Amino acid sequence: MIGGDAPVLVQSMTNTRTDDVATTINQIHELEKVGCEAVRVAVPNLEAAHALPSIKSAIGIPLIADVHFRVELALAAIEAGVDGLRINPGNIGSIERVRTIVEAAKKTNTVIRIGVNAGSLEKDLLEKYGQPCAEAMVESALRYIRLFERWNFKNLKISLKASNVDTTVTSYRLLAEKVPYPLHLGITEAGTLLYGAVKSAIGLGILLAEGIGDTIRVSLAGDPVTEVRVAYMILRALNLRRRGIEIIACPTCGRCHMDVAQIATKLEEQLAEVSCPLTVAVMGCEVNGPGEARQADIGVAGGKEIAVIFQKGKIVGRVRKDQVITAMAEKVKQLCKEESRFESK
Ligand code: SF4
Repeated sequence: MIGGDAPVLVQSMTNTRTDDVATTINQIHELEKVGCEAVRVAVPNLEAAHALPSIKSAIGIPLIADVHFRVELALAAIEAGVDGLRINPGNIGSIERVRTIVEAAKKTNTVIRIGVNAGSLEKDLLEKYGQPCAEAMVESALRYIRLFERWNFKNLKISLKASNVDTTVTSYRLLAEKVPYPLHLGITEAGTLLYGAVKSAIGLGILLAEGIGDTIRVSLAGDPVTEVRVAYMILRALNLRRRGIEIIACPTCGRCHMDVAQIATKLEEQLAEVSCPLTVAVMGCEVNGPGEARQADIGVAGGKEIAVIFQKGKIVGRVRKDQVITAMAEKVKQLCKEESRFESK
């Protein structure tokens, strides 16, 4: 379910060659493990289109084909049984060709995402507005939305992507006032891990906090598994979804007794596939540590010789500092099993 009261859905996109079926399936399975709920694959040629049925039958989440320029690739993807198609109607060539795709999608009940991109706006809009801007992107999207509606096709999602946060936020705000369709949010080509995550958190965060956005993708250069993890961090920070472990870690100071950064990072890695919404606190000393550690589902506070482990406010263990990671990971997995507190939101 997308849109309305459904939870904001987390998407990602593979970066493998789609015609390399085994590698692509492998990557999608990795994405599924960290909570990816829909996956997009590039379909740049017929080989990729022909790989879609094998990919679709091997995965458990909706498959979306990303098609540019060629109508026959869109038709092949629809025929292959994908759940969704992402096109930028402006680069398909002509209105008649776009209509061919729409009519085919109608027959199979395939969702179409109209994906407008600031980097590929129509010439007349660039002339009218002088440069890619929010107003031009919205006008481009509306042009196609109204056309699709005239063809009696409303199985739509819309995205308006720009690499600039301000343009993205303004364009989605404008469009959200005008159409009822689910909106897919993303800051395109956001960048490398750190800056990309920051840009996405700000751009998507502003919109999501205003109630705008039904599906999200965090675009990062690198492993798409990280995109999904960052997406959940954004949703969790906004209290919109609570999937997986939230690590709370102190910044450390001169009182610190253990390597908090290393412990927190290792735990985050080791627990990345745990879906229970638990908080795990890693605190460096006995001054502020116990207080914070007590409030978490599982917490640890460093001491001179040993570290104290808490579970829901009670001391449940005292371990040597080199055993903290193993002991904490074990406790978290055990608690998760006991409570089976899978996603509640
Ligand atoms: Fe410093 Fe202790 Fe606070 Fe960490 S918990 S920042 S080590 S006082």
